[in-house]
Amino acid sequence: MNQELPVRIDDHNIDSDDLDQNALTVVDTLTEAGFDAYLVGGCVRDLLCGTKPKDFDVATNATPEQVRELFRRSRLIGRRFPIAHVRFGRDIIEVSTFRQAQHDDIETDEHGLIVRDQAFGDLADDAFRRDFSINALYYDVNSHTIIDYVGGIDDLQHKRLRFIGDPAGRLAEDPVRFLRAIRFAAKLGFRIDDSIVALVDDVADRIEAIPSARLFDEFLKLFLSGYAEQAWLHLRDTPLVYSLFPSCDPDSSLVTDAMRNTDERVAAEQPVTPGFLVAVILWADFESRCEQHNPDNKPGMMYDIATDTLAVQQQHIAVPRRYSTFAREVWQLQPRLVNRQPRNIRRILGHKRFRAAFDFLRLRGAADPQLATCAQWWEEIQELDSTQQQGMIDALPRNTKRKRRRRSKSRGNRQPSPLDAQG
Ligand code: ATP
Ligand code: MG
Repeated sequence: MNQELPVRIDDHNIDSDDLDQNALTVVDTLTEAGFDAYLVGGCVRDLLCGTKPKDFDVATNATPEQVRELFRRSRLIGRRFPIAHVRFGRDIIEVSTFRQAQHDDIETDEHGLIVRDQAFGDLADDAFRRDFSINALYYDVNSHTIIDYVGGIDDLQHKRLRFIGDPAGRLAEDPVRFLRAIRFAAKLGFRIDDSIVALVDDVADRIEAIPSARLFDEFLKLFLSGYAEQAWLHLRDTPLVYSLFPSCDPDSSLVTDAMRNTDERVAAEQPVTPGFLVAVILWADFESRCEQHNPDNKPGMMYDIATDTLAVQQQHIAVPRRYSTFAREVWQLQPRLVNRQPRNIRRILGHKRFRAAFDFLRLRGAADPQLATCAQWWEEIQELDSTQQQGMIDALPRNTKRKRRRRSKSRGNRQPSPLDAQG
């Protein structure tokens, strides 16, 4: 351990006006009750980097129960690490009690994975149990100083993501920390230290042991926080991409385009849904299964193929049903959008997934001029009134091929194949 630490820095760029009022209330209440309390983690890191923090976390020497007693609108959460959530309307301030890095009360499994950690400690202990040095900076709001036990300021200045302690051990405790590294690198434009990158193969194996529900949470943070494209570009260069999405195509331009598009939507404060990204990431697999087993796009068969495709993914990331259903509906609309059967157009326009399916088709159009023309058609028809829409519908070429086939087969409900597309 470095003898000169902790370093206290009062020459920094954090402006008190940028601090969250609710977080300050929490710190003040704790301090008035005789406890120590600091802002910590992502908020301090982001403020020092000049970006707006997503949320504010507080660290204190009060136990979770003591925190709960001080704040009427608070509750304890977390099985592995009990912490208090203090609620202010829709805003939540997370208050964690100082914890130790090494202690008998920390339970690990046979691989060193932390399964339970209730060992409280002091501020220094708390700093060393955190993941990256840049995430272990504390801000004392009363003296306006940063407290750094782990060389976090230096790493921040060098734009470097470095673990506190031995990288192999830290990743064994929690392999999700690698995904966090990717996320922070993407968000801040930092470099992941070579000592971490070197361990990626091992992490790819270990991550399979992480509960799929936690991986879904991490998936949301990676791709819906406004820097999905960078996160994806990092991730797809590692074997972790297959640990998370076993059937994806890392080279797919559809995925990269969709990630960029998601970032643009987040920046414009437009709604984004994980269902759309699930549809995008699994599309290559779904499409090739369809080509192989369902070239005629029979709806029932398409439904089953979607179920199979999603079931494989489900074993790795627990995608809630509403999002997998969303992905399935977007997929099922694709051949219908491409084929443009005159009698179906209005029903498609009124479909609750039309807009998402249309966005999806537009993304697919980036790699296929015929699909781009088709997407353009749907773009135009949406803008028109009903009479003008009818004009566009009437101008569609009639699908004679479809009629011929129908006569030759018994009256099935064959959906046209995308190969029938009318430019
Ligand atoms: P952001 O909120 O911007 O996503 P963050 O760094 O605040 O980033 P949180 O998940 O909110 O991330 O966690 C708060 C802090 O808790 C982190 O900064 C880090 O100090 C600590 N922490 C979170 N997850 C871990 C982990 N898996 N291992 C060790 N420390 C962690
Ligand atoms: Mg945070």
